[in-house]
Amino acid sequence: MPMRFDIMTLFPELVDTVLGSSIIGRAQKSGALTVATHQIRDYSEDKHRRVDDTPYGGGKGMLMAAQPIWNCYQAVLAQAGEDERVRRHVIYLTPTGKVLTQQRATELARDYDHLILLCGHYEGVDRRVVDEIVDEEISIGDYVLTGGEIPACILTDCVARMVPGVLADEECYEKESIASGLLEYPQYTKPAVWHGREVPPVLLSGDHAKVDAYRLETAIALTERNRPELLEAWRAAHPPVEPKKKRRKKTAQPTVDTEPPVDSAAQGEVSC
Ligand code: SAM
Repeated sequence: MPMRFDIMTLFPELVDTVLGSSIIGRAQKSGALTVATHQIRDYSEDKHRRVDDTPYGGGKGMLMAAQPIWNCYQAVLAQAGEDERVRRHVIYLTPTGKVLTQQRATELARDYDHLILLCGHYEGVDRRVVDEIVDEEISIGDYVLTGGEIPACILTDCVARMVPGVLADEECYEKESIASGLLEYPQYTKPAVWHGREVPPVLLSGDHAKVDAYRLETAIALTERNRPELLEAWRAAHPPVEPKKKRRKKTAQPTVDTEPPVDSAAQGEVSC
């Protein structure tokens, strides 16, 4: 059964455009995953199809009301028609949630078959419907956007690319920036010289060990510059390998010789 994403929103066309394109769009066509959007306004019981109202206690802006979201959610469940074995999870995209990480996205791809995403708008959503239907609140970063549609697209894209059959080579996402523990090394394609800038000669050498060593070295330098906290965690997880002591021969005198140090490229593969 392909992984399923249902996205409840006031702007389904925005989500459809983003997730209907490129790799995620192709994955839907190939049947590797299903993405469906749902117009919350279609479920409003208000005669003018209103979906929002003023907040109790005062304050600026409007809040999305509980009723249309609840009815939309019931329709999503009915359409999916799933049994108890389906591992379903409901997420509200909100700046007050826990910030999305690659680790959390990996867990979502691994642990669930069906994600239902709620996109807020205006000042947000009546808390009661969040308490009623939502399992987890996720933020995509420490900034505020006008709506949850872009966050829902980001979450879906990030999770979906780890669903089997979505990427050509599933090994790749494990060796990319963040998931590998480092930022990815700089990459180059043809031509070998562009605007007078040459591709680093080692990449043309055909020597895979040297290429790996160069990539590790440049990944470490880039991570140190842009994300020193990541490098600290990576170094803690990749302590330098102690040179092995030579085994003593029974008859020989004790020796202090050591084997040559292990090539640093072997400590952390970053190529994909
Ligand atoms: N009043 C809210 C607050 O201060 O937390 C902000 C509401 S925001 C203008 C409207 C909607 O955009 C939210 O309900 C949420 O769905 C979405 N949104 C905005 N920033 C987000 C973020 N960083 N991560 C996830 N969703 C976000």
